[in-house]
Amino acid sequence: MNAGGTTRADIGIRDGRIVAIGDVRSAARELDAAGKLVLPGCVDLHTHLASTPTFTPLDDFEHGTRAAIAGGVTTVCSMVYQEGTLRAGIERGLRDAGRSLADFAFHIVVTDPSDAATAELPSLARDGHTGLKVFMVTPRFGDRITDYVRLLRAAAGAGMLTAVHAEDHETVVRATTLLHAAGHDAVRYFPESRPAAAEDIAIRAAAQLAAKTGAAMYFVHLSSRAALAALAEAKSGGLRVYGETRPLYLHLTRERFERPDAALWVGQPPLREREDVEAIWDALRGGLLDTVGTDHYPHRRAAKLAPDLAFDRVPPGVANLETLLPMLYSEGVRRGRLTVERMVDLLATSPARIAGLRGKGEIALGSDADIVIFDPERTRTIKASEMHSACDYDPYEGWEVTGWPSVTLLRGEVAYAEGEILAQPGQGRLVARDPSHGAPS
Ligand SMILES: [Zn+2]
Repeated sequence: MNAGGTTRADIGIRDGRIVAIGDVRSAARELDAAGKLVLPGCVDLHTHLASTPTFTPLDDFEHGTRAAIAGGVTTVCSMVYQEGTLRAGIERGLRDAGRSLADFAFHIVVTDPSDAATAELPSLARDGHTGLKVFMVTPRFGDRITDYVRLLRAAAGAGMLTAVHAEDHETVVRATTLLHAAGHDAVRYFPESRPAAAEDIAIRAAAQLAAKTGAAMYFVHLSSRAALAALAEAKSGGLRVYGETRPLYLHLTRERFERPDAALWVGQPPLREREDVEAIWDALRGGLLDTVGTDHYPHRRAAKLAPDLAFDRVPPGVANLETLLPMLYSEGVRRGRLTVERMVDLLATSPARIAGLRGKGEIALGSDADIVIFDPERTRTIKASEMHSACDYDPYEGWEVTGWPSVTLLRGEVAYAEGEILAQPGQGRLVARDPSHGAPS
């Protein structure tokens, strides 16, 4: 099963690669996939598994990729942070990923767009590190705009893709200050502190930077109708821009923030309205959005629900790697919102192409044998206690899902089968990224 269509065939694997599709007569080892869907392993371009000098995430590479493999995700891109040099961030990421069970690559978060950092780009790109990330939501972005423009221009020249967290800093600060001044500190005010207008303004500003510099941009975690409209305009202007949404915005609405445990669902941007949810499904179906990435970054229940935390002090992020594929299948394909081929495109083919991840994202001769044998009839109720994340709650606790991975292969090795993790820490490898900009091949 591929983004381009579905056929019934055997798949032959040798030395970790797909070497035959069709009638494979005999093999040293056979896996029976009768009655199941055979999908390319999913590629999640948005995770936070690497540490920083001051912080190690609850789901580090080992825990996070256990969840990934169990959920049919075979390649993860993690954010790594500049530490003086950009290269130092990559080196930390490589050390952390030494415990990875899935294949991996990085986006380097640029916090200081100095001339020295910009000068590093060509050598990083040559080494297969072609991903950057910038946060427009920090004051630094506006303060250093000239430097960021220089960085983006160099990124375009080096064939790098820049991931963009597009929320306008001033809009968020203004709304947050007004809420605090009115004594509205509770988490139920969180959505008002980060209005959809902040996304709209930031995406439009970023699109102007893309036009000016030629940079290819990947807008992460788009959540609203306003964001989609801004993305559509940027795309119709011929810019090389791509849009990602995240599962939270497909499955949940702002109503969660009325609950006493609202903080459990805090991520940036916040959950939106029912109309936004429907618009995002439409954009996935119609092709305006290119990928679904998890932004996997869980925190323990006690950290999220610490007493008297103001809405802007709750650590943002949730676990999502294990439920990404089954929930998109259950809520998307089974409900008729997406074809299974479109789902494969969103979760595997497009992310691999956009990020230039060589050998990933499709079942094709010569590709890595990253394969999910998916049982479309298996019904399961999501329980945090059965998930592989180190987190002690799941944002979809109690959700009934039909369709779940039975077996996950990573480069031909059985990494996960029927509830059991078989891959070892360290089995994952760095995936070299082409300077592709995601142009269709
Ligand atoms: Zn993120």
